[in-house]
Amino acid sequence: MIADLHTHTSCSDGSLAPAALLAGAQAAGIELLAVTDHDTLAAYATLAPGRHGALRLVSGVELSTRWRRRDIHVVGLNFDLDEPDLARALARQQAARVDRARRIARRLARLGVADALAGAREIAGSAHIGRPHFAEHLVRAGFVRDAAEAFRKYLGAGKPGDVRSDWMPMEEGVALLRGAGGSAVLAHPAKYRMTRTRLGALVAAFADCGGDAMEVVTGHQADAVTGQLAALAMRHGLSASCGSDFHSADQPWAALGRATPLPARCTPVWSGW
Ligand code: AMP
Ligand code: MN
Ligand code: MN
Ligand code: MN
Repeated sequence: MIADLHTHTSCSDGSLAPAALLAGAQAAGIELLAVTDHDTLAAYATLAPGRHGALRLVSGVELSTRWRRRDIHVVGLNFDLDEPDLARALARQQAARVDRARRIARRLARLGVADALAGAREIAGSAHIGRPHFAEHLVRAGFVRDAAEAFRKYLGAGKPGDVRSDWMPMEEGVALLRGAGGSAVLAHPAKYRMTRTRLGALVAAFADCGGDAMEVVTGHQADAVTGQLAALAMRHGLSASCGSDFHSADQPWAALGRATPLPARCTPVWSGW
């Protein structure tokens, strides 16, 4: 099964419109796909879950949440897109995004970056605003060479643009997704750069509050990492998900349908659907 259960479109910080993402996924031979934009279901206004030729599309979202004062991403899969509690919570997350964008812009203004809010808004267009739009503004205004440098100098953890965000608690995100009939998946555990002890505590807390699965595979990854994450999932009774975290074609390590396969000993999150 070629599954990609973590992808972004231009409704959040991806480069492809929803229809183009679906076409790209079909071309890549993906059989099971979820679009998981940051805190929005907007892509599903034009994409219908269900069969699209050989590809099955399920609903998806990537929630920004907080756990022990860190930003943790929770992917929701195969839930009811019309569930009202989830819709209300996403509206609150969008308001938190807009508020955070204003505060990021104020911080950047103090560092001499003028009009960052207007710039990031123009780049975002109709998409929900996020730090990558600020990163692109910093590139265009000549402050940095690329997005990676923008995060390293201005937007990443501990940098001036790293303002406190009012995301929902992780436990609330899990409860909302399960309440909407979906599976709650801990996103890209290796990306949080935690110590083994802290990562173990995170996965335990995620399982304790009702989480279903964790991403054992994110994009193309080393076998040693896959093995460690598979062991962690099994130790905490979580099933396994896999996704590219695709944003755009210029990130070859996160190409559609090119994720490392899940180890055979893992229970795929979709086995219960
Ligand atoms: P936000 O949802 O606004 O907090 O922005 C987070 C997004 O920024 C992530 O989903 C990535 O797409 C992107 N991102 C995070 N860190 C980096 C980085 N170091 N370089 C480039 N993009 C990044
Ligand atoms: Mn992103
Ligand atoms: Mn993420
Ligand atoms: Mn993502």
